[in-house]
Amino acid sequence: MDRKRGAAGDADMSDLRLKSRQSYLAKREAEQLALLRIQVAEEASEVERLGDRLSAQEKADFRRNAETLRLAEARNNIDEHFDGYTLPDAQSKSELLTRTDKDPKAYKTEYQQWEDDQMGKIKSQVKQPDRVQQDDYEYVFDETQAIKWVSDGKVDMEKQRLQQMLDESEMKAKTIEETRKSLPVYKYKDQLLEAIKAHQVLIVIGETGSGKTTQIPHYVLLDDEITKGLKVACTQPRRVAAISVAQRVAEEMGERVGKTCGYMVRFEEKTSPDTKILYCTDGLLLRILIQDPELSEYGLIMIDEAHERTLSTDILMGMLKEIILIRPDLKVIISSATITAQSFSQFLYNCPLFSIPGRSYPVEVMYSREPESNYLSAALTTIWQVHIATEIHPSSPSDILVFLTGEEEILAAQASLEETAKKLGNRVPPLEIRPLYSALPSEDQQRIFLPASVGTRKCILSTNLAETSLTIDGVTVVIDTGYEKQNSYDGKMGLSTLTVVPCSRASANQRAGRAGRNRPGRAYRLFTRFAFNNELPEQATPEIMRQNLLSTTLLLKSLGVHDLINFNFMDPPPTTSLIKSLELLYGLGCLDSTGALTRHGRKLSELPIDPLLGKAILAASDSGCSEEVVKIIAMLGETHALFLRPKDKRMEADNARRIFTSNEGGDFMSQLNVYSQAEESDFDVLWAKQNFLQSRSLNRARDVRDQLEKLLDRIEVEHSSCGISDHVAIRKALTAGLFPNAARLQRDGQSYRTLTGSLTVFIHPSSVLSQLAQKPKWVIYYELVASSKEYMRNVMPIEPEWLVELAPHYHKADA
Ligand code: ADP
Ligand code: MG
Repeated sequence: MDRKRGAAGDADMSDLRLKSRQSYLAKREAEQLALLRIQVAEEASEVERLGDRLSAQEKADFRRNAETLRLAEARNNIDEHFDGYTLPDAQSKSELLTRTDKDPKAYKTEYQQWEDDQMGKIKSQVKQPDRVQQDDYEYVFDETQAIKWVSDGKVDMEKQRLQQMLDESEMKAKTIEETRKSLPVYKYKDQLLEAIKAHQVLIVIGETGSGKTTQIPHYVLLDDEITKGLKVACTQPRRVAAISVAQRVAEEMGERVGKTCGYMVRFEEKTSPDTKILYCTDGLLLRILIQDPELSEYGLIMIDEAHERTLSTDILMGMLKEIILIRPDLKVIISSATITAQSFSQFLYNCPLFSIPGRSYPVEVMYSREPESNYLSAALTTIWQVHIATEIHPSSPSDILVFLTGEEEILAAQASLEETAKKLGNRVPPLEIRPLYSALPSEDQQRIFLPASVGTRKCILSTNLAETSLTIDGVTVVIDTGYEKQNSYDGKMGLSTLTVVPCSRASANQRAGRAGRNRPGRAYRLFTRFAFNNELPEQATPEIMRQNLLSTTLLLKSLGVHDLINFNFMDPPPTTSLIKSLELLYGLGCLDSTGALTRHGRKLSELPIDPLLGKAILAASDSGCSEEVVKIIAMLGETHALFLRPKDKRMEADNARRIFTSNEGGDFMSQLNVYSQAEESDFDVLWAKQNFLQSRSLNRARDVRDQLEKLLDRIEVEHSSCGISDHVAIRKALTAGLFPNAARLQRDGQSYRTLTGSLTVFIHPSSVLSQLAQKPKWVIYYELVASSKEYMRNVMPIEPEWLVELAPHYHKADA
């Protein structure tokens, strides 16, 4: 094992990096300039020779080229390159406004609206009529309603125009092969392969869109010397990215996905025995590690988007740090879009960095002059403002990319935009709305990349998926709400929340950069410069610091990591959360008194679901109702968007929903009713529609169920079914897993107190139990969500004796 990964190597690398970067920039500009000089000289002699016989167009062309040359030469004297985009000033003293009145909840989706209906408190939450919800669509043209902007003032407009002219020629439609060759990484192919050969671990940094994800695994595959016939795996933090990138790479190879290039994500897989490049989620590679602890089938592992610091990526880094010591032939690439890569190098034995110079254009950053109280409606207004003000050119797309926080918000925005567009008719040019979020079905993902039809503009509404994971060409305008959804976990309370929080400055800069991939662009930030400098955190906190570690601890145990406290964490999570998780695993029967994994624990670790749910399945298998419990669990992931509630048919929708409702069995049994009846209809689209159910959600639930059943076969858990009538068996099995999430009704008859954490919580308005006048005394819930209050979502009544019977070590008889 070469642990020295020598100092000489490092010096070479940085030298190489510096040289290649300089030479790339210099060469590219020099080439263009030389060509332009020749052209202008030729044209000049032509003008002299033909004089007035030249057409006005030809003369104009000449003048433009001559002017471009003049500017290019002038620019050459000012600064040497255009790499990167400009960042705003460190701090502006003129603005002392804060964003305190920002209220991310002011704009409501259908679903949220309904929840509020239920509580009869809509009025108190919406401060004033929203400009977007008005029936008057004239706001689109109303200048007084438009958002006022201040520029960061760093981009020279003349330079922008120049840059654009210089690059217009590159924007012509390219074949796949040409696109591949035009990516920045292409020029570094040989150097990169050499560096991979010379070092076991290499960190690759490159601007988003430079071709890291799609090209590097392919380059490596074509070079036998590196992988020696073994496979290449490339991890992605998000499933959409894994699938989409695999599809793209297969297309580049001229094959169907699943052949040489395949993907594996939770509950979905497209691979074959021929698969040599595997794109998978980081979480999935951890699962592969359980089966194959030395990754013996793989010759190279690329941990992509490492800067995102997801929980699974962090754990993978810790595991790989050990594995490379036993597998000197295993190559590891850590790739990252930002320069925080230094810490990865330190973590991985000071391995060298290889940086691919980006090719991006200046982006002018516009801050809103005043804080926006409702970012969603501000985003919608800005979309129209930009769309109307910017002409659509057939040859050079000027698409809009909007960063929102999640699926529901994106769908709501899409609906609003489409409705406004319909009302405005042909008074505005067509706008093609393309949503992009994690749960988007894979068929729809590819649509994102298709160019807009002639004469229309593409407007992509995305979560932070488009921040670095997916690059969409043609975007010149970015609208950034400055928010993202983030998970956080309070170990003491057992409260896990997904909340909308301001994104980090690093994220905002990445987002802005998306506008400058093909030409100079603009980023509209729906927050003030002051907020950017003072209210946005520098970097997001690594996920490991703010997550429920139950699954992770179980996984680490199953990977043979016994001493969790001293595991190689890049940033160790709070010790108390680790200990809490260990205690709970013990309570679930996964660990014995010495802290070793039990047979039961091993089985649970193989199920890619929350260990509490896994435990419920195992208990159900013993009591003869595993099939029913698996169906309920498959439905749990779909409850958010399952029920449709069209504006004009609310009553009908609510009545339809009642057919499935089980008061005694709460949400879980109601979900089982939905699943069973959907199954009887053979997942018929029409049936779903008649019952106001989202057919897509039902299909996804069916797929998850099928996958879970397969996994259960593999870990030899017996299938059993009791039909839907044996409520008690099913509910007891669920209680056997979810017992840590029990709560007891308090004296007021409305609120509950959780047994772990003693938190006062309420039944979520979306629950079938929220309607009951007489609330059940004892319940278990699947998740706690915090919004205006802490709510239990997916709730089921239980008998308190069950807790004592099923989890005696956890709940004492006097509980
Ligand atoms: P990086 O990983 O460095 O951010 P990628 O390898 O993901 O870059 O992407 C490089 C380029 O490949 C993108 O800018 C885009 O032009 C093209 N590309 C990637 N995925 C797709 C896709 N699914 N469809 C069309 N083009 C794609
Ligand atoms: Mg990438």
